[in-house]
Amino acid sequence: MEWTRSETLAVAMHNCAQCHGSGLRLGKRGAVGPCNCVMRAIFRICFDRFVRCVTQERHLSRVSLEPHSGRSRPSTWGRKDEEYIADFSLIARRTLDDFEHRLFRYHFILGADWKLCSRKLGLDRGNFFHAIYRIEQKLGRVFREMEPYSLFPLDEYFQGPSKTITGRLHIVPKNQNPPKPAHLRFPVPVGKTA
Ligand SMILES: [Zn+2]
Repeated sequence: MEWTRSETLAVAMHNCAQCHGSGLRLGKRGAVGPCNCVMRAIFRICFDRFVRCVTQERHLSRVSLEPHSGRSRPSTWGRKDEEYIADFSLIARRTLDDFEHRLFRYHFILGADWKLCSRKLGLDRGNFFHAIYRIEQKLGRVFREMEPYSLFPLDEYFQGPSKTITGRLHIVPKNQNPPKPAHLRFPVPVGKTA
């Protein structure tokens, strides 16, 4: 995917020393890419939503009807909050290496502070925060770049139309008459003519 200024501007840190608030910066190979402040902001927005989903009362989770591209069934019922929790956890598991995932679990999921994490993982304070930044940047990027359904922006994840189905919708031209329903034919009783 291509990162654009209109997308990064809203989440970039206005006082960022790297991008000066634009959210974009030149990479090592001369290509324009998202600034680290943007990816960390995306991670935090997604993480806040994750915390809301896992801590809310069960009865607040809503069932929603989602269109999809299957031929036999045009839509299915789903629980978006539960799907989001599962997607968030699965992406973290797949994206992070073992050490990063342990730190992710201790700090973000179990709520351990830097002192506890440092003791458990043998890190000093500086390395702890470097690792946290690295985790936030890695996950923030994947949450946005994942295809076909990205976790971010959240409103598209939770309410947006299915990309696949909009691409495959069969539209009947205005002047074309819809096909007539076939006439029902009932069995004729024996001894009578139709
Ligand atoms: Zn920045």
